Amino acid sequence: MELKPLRLKKHEAKRLRAGHDWVFSNEIDVAATPLTDFEPGDLVEVQAADGRTIGSGYVNPHSLIAARLMSRDPAHAPGASLLVHRLNVAVALRERIYPTPHYRLAFGESDGVPGLVVDRYGAILVVQITTAGMERMRDDVIAALEKVAKPAGILLRNDVGVRALENLPSYVETAAGHVPDEVVVEENGCRFAVAPAGGQKTGWFYDQRDNRARLARYARGARVLDLFCYLGGWGIEAAHAGAAEVVAVDSSAPALALAVSNAAANGVALRTIQAEAFDALADLAAARERFDIVVCDPPAFVRRRKDLKPGLAAYRRLYQMAMRLLDRDGLLVAASCSQPLTRELLADCVQQAARHLDRRAQWLEWGGQGPDHPVHPAMPETEYLKAGFVRVTRG
Ligand code: SAH
Repeated sequence: MELKPLRLKKHEAKRLRAGHDWVFSNEIDVAATPLTDFEPGDLVEVQAADGRTIGSGYVNPHSLIAARLMSRDPAHAPGASLLVHRLNVAVALRERIYPTPHYRLAFGESDGVPGLVVDRYGAILVVQITTAGMERMRDDVIAALEKVAKPAGILLRNDVGVRALENLPSYVETAAGHVPDEVVVEENGCRFAVAPAGGQKTGWFYDQRDNRARLARYARGARVLDLFCYLGGWGIEAAHAGAAEVVAVDSSAPALALAVSNAAANGVALRTIQAEAFDALADLAAARERFDIVVCDPPAFVRRRKDLKPGLAAYRRLYQMAMRLLDRDGLLVAASCSQPLTRELLADCVQQAARHLDRRAQWLEWGGQGPDHPVHPAMPETEYLKAGFVRVTRG
């Protein structure tokens, strides 16, 4: 496909030259290259104000992120062969570090495939396309995945909210082969049945794998509360590592049903509570239940920077209620997938909660997203997950 020029205003090339891959709409010289001349997903050559080429990518004239770079090499423009190359590079990393084919195979910008996320469940791939540019390349994406991973089935979970920002419709569709209702994930010595079509996101949260493993050494003999448990990843792995008792809370009945059968399949027990998490916390406190470990791994309370203030209040409240349930010497796992919430802000929330209850907090370790969710060093937007392990004592 032919590349149309997309010209930046003066002084707007610096961030891109430093490695960032997004062009915002206000950075474009619309006198030289009017955005009205582009269709969503058109391939572009991004040029600095002096006409020098920065790289190639795709455009969406209706989005605040008006263009995303896919390549800086003039010999390799976006298209079928670049996708195969990028996905081969992505798969090579995962095959080197994971014993079984259960991982995030491609993580958007961080793997040089902006707008594309692929999770691998053995022979099944679950794909999320989030931009008009990637949607236009959909057939090439499917062909590249078939070539690189030889899957038995590919499911498009194109029902994510962010697609609306690109004026894309919401749909779920089998794009190749056959996709069963349930697939299996192997993680840290446990096995989990996952529903790719009906589950949260693509069905499983691979990003917490290393942090769930990190919990194992604290788990022996412990009473564990797994809040926002989804399919029971944290709780079941803690039980597998020797926890004495696990209580798992989620508002979703289908998630809890799978969590219970997953626990049984791993030979461990799980007590579940279907409830809004804050209500469950209040009920457990009223019933004077105590735990050695409370895991807080909620959905993102802060999606955009402007929601930071109410979000911080929610995290503080969550940590405070969680700490109240901890025994004299307990462990709080404070995890957050809110990108705008930095480690420092999360640590502040925990410390404020501890002070409020007159407890002592000790930071033991921090985890981030696993290496199958690499961070793009020039794009802080790609770093979102943190999990703090905090010992909480009294007096
Ligand atoms: N901790 C999980 C991932 C959490 S995803 C894991 O390790 O895989 C977020 C989960 O929180 C979902 O299962 C969703 O059903 C649940 N949830 C969202 N809002 C909730 C609320 N207010 N109370 C309880 N559960 C909630």
